[in-house]
Formats: sequence, C-alpha cells, structure tokens
Amino acid sequence: MGSLRGSAGGEGRNEDGGKVGLPALEVALAFPQATPASLFPPSVSDYYQFDDLLSDEEKTLRKKVRAISEKEIAPIMTEYWEKAEFPFHAIPKLATLGLAGSTTKGYGCPGLSLTASAISIAEVARVDASCSTFILVHSSLAMSTIALCGSEAQKQKYLPSMAQLKTVGCWALTEPDYGSDASSLKTSATKVPGGWLLDGQKRWIGNSTFADVLIILARNADTKQLNGFIVKKGAPGLKATKIQNKIGLRMVQNGDILLNKVFVPEEDRLTGIDSFQDISKVLAMSRIMVAWQPIGIAMGVYDMCHRYLKERKQFGAPLAAFQLNQEKLVRMLGNIQAMVLIGWRLCKLYESDKMTPGHASLGKAWTSTKAREVVSLGRELLGGNGILADFLVAKAFCDLEPIYTYEGTYDINSLVTGREITGIASFKPAALAKSRL
Ligand SMILES: Cc1cc2nc3c(=O)[nH]c(=O)nc-3n(C[C@H](O)[C@H](O)[C@H](O)COP(=O)(O)OP(=O)(O)OC[C@H]3O[C@@H](n4cnc5c(N)ncnc54)[C@H](O)[C@@H]3O)c2cc1C
Repeated sequence: MGSLRGSAGGEGRNEDGGKVGLPALEVALAFPQATPASLFPPSVSDYYQFDDLLSDEEKTLRKKVRAISEKEIAPIMTEYWEKAEFPFHAIPKLATLGLAGSTTKGYGCPGLSLTASAISIAEVARVDASCSTFILVHSSLAMSTIALCGSEAQKQKYLPSMAQLKTVGCWALTEPDYGSDASSLKTSATKVPGGWLLDGQKRWIGNSTFADVLIILARNADTKQLNGFIVKKGAPGLKATKIQNKIGLRMVQNGDILLNKVFVPEEDRLTGIDSFQDISKVLAMSRIMVAWQPIGIAMGVYDMCHRYLKERKQFGAPLAAFQLNQEKLVRMLGNIQAMVLIGWRLCKLYESDKMTPGHASLGKAWTSTKAREVVSLGRELLGGNGILADFLVAKAFCDLEPIYTYEGTYDINSLVTGREITGIASFKPAALAKSRL
C-alpha cells in the first residue's frame, strides 16, 4: 500500500486517492463537553466597564460589529483558516460593517471617530484576526493613502467603490531585501512620456493576489525620493503570487509582487507623496489600528477560555474551579484591562492632535507583547483543544505572531519610542550610526 496523506475533509487517502479511513468526527460530536468557537462565546472581558468611556454612537457601532462578526464570520473561520483561503463570499457581509474608509469624511466613507474605528477593528479581531487584517490593509493603508495623499480626482474616482468593498485595495511598501529597513526600498519609478515605469519586487503584501487597486511605493529614479502610485489589477508587467505555508493569518492572501516595466499613467501618481515622511501620517493612524488588533484577539481568547473552563470538567469539577486556572484567567483579564486603556488613550491623543510617533509605536509594541502572554495562557488552559483551530485559541495564538511583526516589529517600534525619549537613534549598529548627539 502507498503512503497515506490527509485530506481537507480529514479522511486518510492512499497515493491513488482511494479512501482508507473514516471522515473526521464533527468536533461537537467528538468533544461534547465544550462548545467550539463556531458558536462564539459571549463577550465578558469588559471588567472595568470600559464601555462607559465610549460615546453612544461608538457603543452602538461596537455592538453591531460584534453581532455581524459573531454571526457571519465565526461559523466559517476555522474552515477557511485551515484551507488558507479568503472567504470571498463574505465580502458583502464585511461591507455591511461600514468600516471601510474609517475616519475619512465624504467620498462615500463613514467618517467615524478614530476611537470608533479602533474598537471596531478590535471587535472583528476578537472573532477573526484575518478578517480584521483584510479590512485594515484595505481601509487603513490603501484607502487612507488615497484619502491623505491623493488628488481630488483620485479620491473621487477610487474611494466611493472602495468604501463599499466593491473595489479592494492593497498597500505595498515591503520588499524582499527591505523589511524593517523599508525606507531604503529599491523598486524604481522612471519618468516616461505620459506617466511612469515601475520596476522591482514587493513581498508580504496583504490582499495583493486579488486586489483591484495596488498602492505601490517606489523610489523616483531622478530625485531618489519615495513616490506612490495607484496600479490597477491586470496591468501589463504586474504579477502577484500567493505566499504559501503561513502559520498565521492564514485567510489573508499575502503576495509576492513582481513589477516589470509596469506603466502607470501620470493621473495615477499619488501627488501627495514626495518622500518617506509623506506616508508617516498614514502609518501613524494605521499603527493605532494595528495596536487594537492584539486587544481584540486577547478579548476573544479570554471569552473562549471563560466559557470553556466552566463547561469542561475534570476531577469531578469544572476547570474553572481550580486555583491555578483562575490565576491564569485573572492574569489574562488584567492584561486586557491595561491594553484597552493604552489603546483608548492612544486614540484620544490622536484625536486631540497630541499623538507622537513614539506614542503610536509604544502602543503597538506593548499591546502585541501583552497579547502574546494572554494567548499563550489561553493555549495552556484549553489543554489538547488549545492546539485546535476549532476552539479559537490555537488560531489566535498563531495569528498574533505576524501582527507582532508587521507594521514595525516589536523591536523596531521600541526603537522608535526609544529614539523619541532619548534623542538617540539606534536603528543602525553603533559602528555605522551617526548618533544625533
Ligand atoms: C502576515 C504579514 C503581512 C504583511 N503585510 C504587509 C503589507 O500589506 N504591506 C507591506 O508593505 N508589508 C507587509 N508586511 C511586511 C512587514 O511589515 C515586515 O515583515 C516587517 O516590517 C518586518 O520585516 P522583515 O519580515 O523583513 O524582518 P527583518 O527586518 O528581516 O527583521 C528580522 C528581525 O530582526 C529585527 N531587527 C531588524 N532590524 C533591527 C534593528 N535595527 N534593531 C533591532 N532589531 C532589528 C526585527 O525586529 C526582527 O526581529 C507583512 C508581513 C507579514 C508577516
């Protein structure tokens, strides 16, 4: 008999494709004592009544986003995460959240407060981090870049259909040779009659395998400064292929992009980007949104553990009755209260025009490291089921890892704040750096 391999349906198959085993048992049948995450647990992490800090509009939006995420995303997320496919059929449901365009006013965008956007991203991430990343890349990176750095004509042309998720965007900064050191990127933009030719390579770009609109950041061959371009799906010379074998955010389609003399008409150059500094206002806002993803993930994991520990019994008692388990649950809850307050304060600093890059970086670095502790405690609490995507925690555990790394790794964000509080930049090894002192 040939060697065995598993199939998506959980059946063993031999090399000829013949069935040799039985299909996997439904998880609810295999493990009747605890409810899987397809029926999402109630939200119970708001121990310090953080809701009191929100306006009525923000509370209403939060409830709506929570209800839609639990109803539409929770039942399908394990299957799509396992298949590493994006649930395209759910895009109209995600559109009903009304989050695309976030704080942008006009052009069919919702004009939300930053706090409303942030808590909504957290509510989506509470259920599924891949869906929150899909929205974040589309809205906080692609749409915000057009809204903050585009011409009036570009805003009118692209934002209304993007706000309805009829047109999906991606945002390409990172390159294979330039990750943390993104501002050194090498993709080139050369002026030709009527427009520009883009040449280069991008890596890790979320949504890029299917995006209709690709924001490409490239170096102007004459000025050597950063410029931004709107490239359309199917442009000759453009190729985007899916990065395979990710262990986190498996539903997000991250791509490698090849640009081979891609022509971009002059009207699609983003007129507001003439240097790396010009995208810092986009990154400042998106970094706050990313800081709220670990908060949402931690809330979902806490909710799942809270229900699970009451349902699952060992030694004649629910797991929730054991002191060791209670301590872990309380440590998770304490982390979440502190994370929410940091995230909330970050929003308020931004809304009152007082937020610095160091504030945003500390927020993102700190929430992602605290959430790491929450998800690893949660993984312990669920025992064997802590490694199954069906019970959320294993999926959340894996999804947090790329978030710890993207939008500036923990280290790079710490160095941004470090530079702000000391006045000394330490991104380059001391031997290479020109200290500001
Ligand atoms: C799932 C996923 C989605 C992404 N989506 C996008 C996207 O949509 N668009 C986009 O443009 N990019 C995207 N990225 C890219 C992301 O922003 C980069 O992965 C990130 O900036 C880190 O770069 P790197 O992976 O090349 O790591 P590297 O830069 O190679 O870093 C490796 C390690 O070295 C450390 N390090 C590097 N430099 C320093 C230093 N000076 N001091 C101390 N430590 C240092 C880092 O902290 C890290 O621990 C995505 C990445 C992932 C994983």
